[in-house]
Amino acid sequence: MRFILLGLFALFSVCLSAQSLPEFSLPLSETSAHIKFLAADELEGRMTGEHGNNVAARYIATQFQRAGVKPINETYYQPISFVKRIAPTSLALSLGNRAIASEEILLLTGSSAMMSAAIVYVGFGIVDSATGRDDYKGIDAKGKIVVARIGTSEEDSPRALFGSFKQKQDAAKAKGALALVELYRFSFPFARLKQFFGGGSLSLDDGKSATLGFPHLLVNDDDAQIRTLAQSNKKLTGSFQTDGYKEQKVFSNNVVGIIEGSDPKLKDEFLLLSAHYDHIGVKSTPNSTDSIYNGARDNAMGTTAILCAARAFSEAPTKRSVILLACTGEEVGLLGSEYYAENPLVPLNKTIFNLNIDGAGYNDTSIVTVIGLERTTAAQDLIDACKAFGLGAIQDPAPEQNLFDRSDNVSFARKGIPAPTFSPGFRAFDDAINQFYHQAADQADENFDFAYLNRFVKAFIHAARRIADNPKSPEWKSGDKYESVGKKLYGK
Ligand SMILES: [Zn+2]
Repeated sequence: MRFILLGLFALFSVCLSAQSLPEFSLPLSETSAHIKFLAADELEGRMTGEHGNNVAARYIATQFQRAGVKPINETYYQPISFVKRIAPTSLALSLGNRAIASEEILLLTGSSAMMSAAIVYVGFGIVDSATGRDDYKGIDAKGKIVVARIGTSEEDSPRALFGSFKQKQDAAKAKGALALVELYRFSFPFARLKQFFGGGSLSLDDGKSATLGFPHLLVNDDDAQIRTLAQSNKKLTGSFQTDGYKEQKVFSNNVVGIIEGSDPKLKDEFLLLSAHYDHIGVKSTPNSTDSIYNGARDNAMGTTAILCAARAFSEAPTKRSVILLACTGEEVGLLGSEYYAENPLVPLNKTIFNLNIDGAGYNDTSIVTVIGLERTTAAQDLIDACKAFGLGAIQDPAPEQNLFDRSDNVSFARKGIPAPTFSPGFRAFDDAINQFYHQAADQADENFDFAYLNRFVKAFIHAARRIADNPKSPEWKSGDKYESVGKKLYGK
């Protein structure tokens, strides 16, 4: 009797575990409503530190509260202080009698300045106490504008070019120069360089100003004419004038909540679900009447998934506890996730996995693309979860894009936490993606596939549940570049 009973019981538990996933109904209207709000014009592209970003954070916190998600330190907000760097509006430089056009000048650092001084040419301008190299030997740079070639030597790689900025600036400063002008000659277009380094930007406020101070400029010297001029032994005077960089403090919030696990033991471990809710704001684009970058795909989709997960796991908790993290500051350098990783609200070594959700867009709605799918032992749970909703799961089809290191997951991977990114289905980073990726057209409008969003979110929640309930915590696959830091984190 007993045996049969046991057998029956075993059979019963098998059936139970086969359908152990609680029914969770997620109406299309729910996913559609979230994304339409988050990607609405009134949210003004959710730029970190700006009004629309704060409204989005408030919406997320409100939805957390409504779902029954608990705050961790009595608030859903993890406040972060940023420094906003505002680009100079005027730049005027002349060397000898040659006036240089402002589009050929890039100010790397420096606040407002006005100077007129002798010019001195210093070769590459390297001073290195370790090797004894001193390109300033026999040169008096005090009170002068120093002109140098970019990089450290003739054979420099791009990395060396950019890696030497600080060293060369320190040398010029130490030699008493007023400013450092580096002559740029390289295949990477100067205009692109200017876009990259010369715009406004945000950084975490570490109390140290990075952009004010010593005037350090790059000047495009495609034809090497300026160098020839600077190298000539003529006594030349240069003048430089700018309103310089300005800095401003800006505040924004990560939004964080916790849903306690149901298993008395496993609830002390955490599954971290993350999505960035910020986007790139408002900017006027030539030939376009739409200046609002709504960021529906990037990443109102992922934020919607976090909000739906809040309800799903509050209604039926998983065995492990779940941390919901809506990150700010992703588009300005993964700063919100970096801040959380440095200031975690639960211990990182108890955070067994990060399932991040983010993407550029989709071009195949029959699949989900998981960036880093095969890099952790959670691969099967992810594949099975997608399958349950008729979706395939593929790994990163565009390794050349280096997407793994371009979203918030990498802030956690660097700490050792296995951390793939669940992304809308794409098979190539092609025109269909670029049509919307970081474009004003990325909206929750008639071009947006609301039915796919709903299935995508269901698959995400299902995947998260499988991982949070899996008795075995996931690990980096052996040989992965984050494997050893992972072992260290978890003390294995
Ligand atoms: Zn983006």
